[in-house]
Amino acid sequence: MVGRAYFRTKEPYVSADTETTTPPCRAAGEDETLRLMAVHAHPDDESSKGAASMARYARSGVEVLVVTLTGGERGDILNQAMDRPEVRANLPRIRMEEMARARDILGVQQQFLGFTDSGLPEGDPPPPLPEGCFALVPVEQAVEPLVRAIRSFRPHVMLTYDENGGYPHPDHIQCHRVSVAAFEAAADPDRYPDSGELWQPLKLYYFATFHQARFTALHEEMVRRGLDSPYAQMIADWEKRAADRAELEITTRVSCGDYFETRDKALLAHATQIDPDGFWFACPREVQRAAWPTEDYHLARSLVDTELPEDDLFAGVREKVCL
Ligand SMILES: [Zn+2]
Repeated sequence: MVGRAYFRTKEPYVSADTETTTPPCRAAGEDETLRLMAVHAHPDDESSKGAASMARYARSGVEVLVVTLTGGERGDILNQAMDRPEVRANLPRIRMEEMARARDILGVQQQFLGFTDSGLPEGDPPPPLPEGCFALVPVEQAVEPLVRAIRSFRPHVMLTYDENGGYPHPDHIQCHRVSVAAFEAAADPDRYPDSGELWQPLKLYYFATFHQARFTALHEEMVRRGLDSPYAQMIADWEKRAADRAELEITTRVSCGDYFETRDKALLAHATQIDPDGFWFACPREVQRAAWPTEDYHLARSLVDTELPEDDLFAGVREKVCL
């Protein structure tokens, strides 16, 4: 594929012949450690989206911080074995403990921002969102603690969800809005002046985890090996919907097959949310490594020059930070 060079302006991209703007970022010092921040809606999201790439970057010396916006208080118990009264009664505390285990397995840092899970409204029509939940907090107000976290951790690269939230949970959609707004506001002296020293992250990515090409490749490899694929229906549904739904363009594929086991252990640490016999573990790891050994991303904003497609979230950043 022919590489494409992009420079950043207020719009996500303009072509290479347009004048570049000077990023308003503080000059990075020599030998500065690279830092990656992944912003997620609930505890467990970090283990199902980008977990293997985070583990890989953390092992290579990158500082990685997971920011979890809500406590996941309204998550359903999705693992039969954990659906017990004493678990239900203590779910917020248990989810925090699960998160701490997943954090240690992935080898990352983690911070809760303290918003309240909105729950996934189900029914037709769906019930109103509960008062005080994260999805009802005005964006301007919800952005402040994330701006504070960005200014404190000073990430070079940020990861979050696309405008559809990856899946239509109101907290995921709000997570997208808040992350994009914080990426823009963290270096703006007029925004949140009392929330820390200005910092401009250099790249913003959206997770592209659940896409058709990946599941098709997994399906075909399972069939080729004579295994029962659980993905046939899902792929058929996808094909039906394809006409009215554009998939996120994959700009960046991070090779991380060696960390799929770490990812799976982190997922299992979220014992109330993850069924060990369920969807997440339906495809053997060796099939995944053979058919699709990457985690994938969409580059949504960049203040550094880079060429697409990329195989590194820090492409264009390493050169700037570590020279
Ligand atoms: Zn979630």
